[in-house]
Amino acid sequence: MNLHYLEKKYGIRINLLGWSGDAYETGTLQALIKIESTDTGRMLLESIAYHIRVHPGNLAHGILEIRPYAEGDCNASTAPDITTKAGRMIQPVVHFWPKAYTTGGSCSKYLDDHKDETGGVLPDEALFHEFVHAFRMAAGVATLAPIARGGLSNYEDEEEFIAVLVTNIYITDPSNKSHSRLRRDHVSFKTLESDLDQSFTFFRSSVSTYRLVERFCRENPGFTKNLAQVKASFNPIAAFYQDPVQAWIYANSEASESRDALGPDDWDIYSEMRKYSADSPWAGNGEKVFKKWFGKKTPK
Ligand SMILES: [Zn+2]
Repeated sequence: MNLHYLEKKYGIRINLLGWSGDAYETGTLQALIKIESTDTGRMLLESIAYHIRVHPGNLAHGILEIRPYAEGDCNASTAPDITTKAGRMIQPVVHFWPKAYTTGGSCSKYLDDHKDETGGVLPDEALFHEFVHAFRMAAGVATLAPIARGGLSNYEDEEEFIAVLVTNIYITDPSNKSHSRLRRDHVSFKTLESDLDQSFTFFRSSVSTYRLVERFCRENPGFTKNLAQVKASFNPIAAFYQDPVQAWIYANSEASESRDALGPDDWDIYSEMRKYSADSPWAGNGEKVFKKWFGKKTPK
């Protein structure tokens, strides 16, 4: 078997399962090479390699395997071989299908029909997203905890929240030269709402945002401290480490509470309608008026 040097370096194996066609190996390698060419990508791969060394039992055969994704839809997945009695998902296997993104593939067809969906749609971004799941499982901290809070409900569960969040940092990492746009949640590839797309304002997504980010940083201190150093234009992890009080205040603002009460979709409609109202708090210039309207609890 002819291993690519990146497979050897990070303990990753592209398992062809006898599949030689469809540019599966070259397409997967291309995405891997792209990920490795960025600061955030190398941090993630090094963290995966670290857990492979330190917690080999969390990986099947002591490696991270990538296999062809066979569902045929515009997706990829990371499945744990084992879920422990305590509910921890370990021994991840990544399933990825680069051809889905080429002309005529399921993703390119989907995106043709959904022109407003441009967040996190590139093949390396999809593979990076799966690597975040794999990293969390390799670290032994991934659980299948559903998200209860309204404002984050379209992320579906906590692991998806983390995967979408970290991939968004990767997307705005300045060392990442070709990227799509910030993804807003896990149920579509729509872009992140403009009132949530800054490192601190992201915490207004829900009152739960602070707790989830805080726990992610506690569970993966090495990776998140490195991530905080990335000069990405969207980096809520850096915001959390720099000024946790400010992050907490954003998460506990009235905006977050309203978003939790309305849910993200109704919140969008509500926000959009306010823009067109003559005495709208948005009628002037966005952010400043927005904060004033939401009152004293909303931070500067
Ligand atoms: Zn995912």
